[in-house]
Amino acid sequence: PEGPTPTAVATVSQYACQRRTTTENNNKIFTDAFEVLVEIYEFNEIEGPCLAFRRAASVLKSLPWAVQCLGDTHNLPCLGEHTKAIMEEILQYGRSFEVEKILSDERYQTLKLFTSVFGVGPKTAEKWYRRGLRSFSEILADRSIRLNRMQQSGFQHYGDISRAVSKAEALALRNIIDEAVHAITPDAVLALTGGFRRGKEFGHDVDFIVTTTEMGKEEGLLPRIIDKLTKEVSLPLMERDWEKGILLYCDYQASTFDISKLPSRRFEAMDHFAKCFLILRLEDSQVGGGLHIAEGDIRGWRAVRVDLVSPPMDRYAFALLGWSGSRQFERDLRRFARMERHMLLDNHALYDKTKKEFLAATTEKDIFAHLGLEYIEPWQRNA
Ligand code: ATP
Ligand code: MN
Ligand code: MN
Repeated sequence: PEGPTPTAVATVSQYACQRRTTTENNNKIFTDAFEVLVEIYEFNEIEGPCLAFRRAASVLKSLPWAVQCLGDTHNLPCLGEHTKAIMEEILQYGRSFEVEKILSDERYQTLKLFTSVFGVGPKTAEKWYRRGLRSFSEILADRSIRLNRMQQSGFQHYGDISRAVSKAEALALRNIIDEAVHAITPDAVLALTGGFRRGKEFGHDVDFIVTTTEMGKEEGLLPRIIDKLTKEVSLPLMERDWEKGILLYCDYQASTFDISKLPSRRFEAMDHFAKCFLILRLEDSQVGGGLHIAEGDIRGWRAVRVDLVSPPMDRYAFALLGWSGSRQFERDLRRFARMERHMLLDNHALYDKTKKEFLAATTEKDIFAHLGLEYIEPWQRNA
């Protein structure tokens, strides 16, 4: 596609929700470096610079051209001194020494390894690091460590879960879940969301919204889906045994949704809809084109992380917008609403603080319109 040249570019907004960002990243050498800095500031709980590098990476991802020299960036928002110093190193030497120093640091490497386990966050990783632990085998051999159920599954399925999920695998899972929900209720609504809705070829999990057209009927839907998946087996009758059920892990969280509450100002807070975090067993025979597994892997199946969220139908548009991401796009939508429109947005609702009223929406387009924003397609939200 023909993109504008640097000189012809209109001003780039500081808000990701006013930019169109496809999966094509022309500035990966810079954004990869920034993402390492985001991680280390996150591990060190230093919020300011963490946010600054997130925003800088997001701005560069939106450009239809590659930055060739620092002069190219002078009209761009969100690029501070530190950011430009890193870019200068990369432009001059092809790499950043500051980033390389982090990458070779033992604490960074260990925290990165530990947080790559499903159920292990930065706090737990830091705790294990301080105890002198450096590898999975040391964690698993340490008798004083009690892993929770999520972490046990995380270690058990580590190889599969840390391997990217392909689009073909995501579509196969949609078929499996579609069949399960429609057997429960014919008016079920199922939508693929998250990174795959944004057109990504690979993801770390597969995200779905499941609900019913009839309000209130979505209550109890997730437990019924879980029950159905527990009994589901993907192998012929003769080979069945309890281990071959397709539900390998399930963490169900019931709804705590309260319609009278104002949208949350804390972005990182989870939403209040019923949801479940799953690990499902996917068979090679279920995937058109086959599983995305290592060469020589002869099991014929793999484990995949799946998230299901179940909002009531009148919140569908908010949930869809909130779960489609990217996380940076969501952060900036909320920041834009608050700073530029005096409104509060989250996964449940949009509230106008001036008029003191909630603004209803049945589609994502309604929400963009309420915010006075041009509609941004899901595949343009890879901020
Ligand atoms: P990936 O390919 O790595 O999965 P992704 O964009 O799908 O990329 P996810 O972590 O699956 O990333 O999150 C998808 C969206 O769902 C994000 O926009 C995020 O804000 C939202 N989300 C994820 N977990 C929760 C949660 N527990 N509560 C509310 N929203 C969440
Ligand atoms: Mn996802
Ligand atoms: Mn997810």
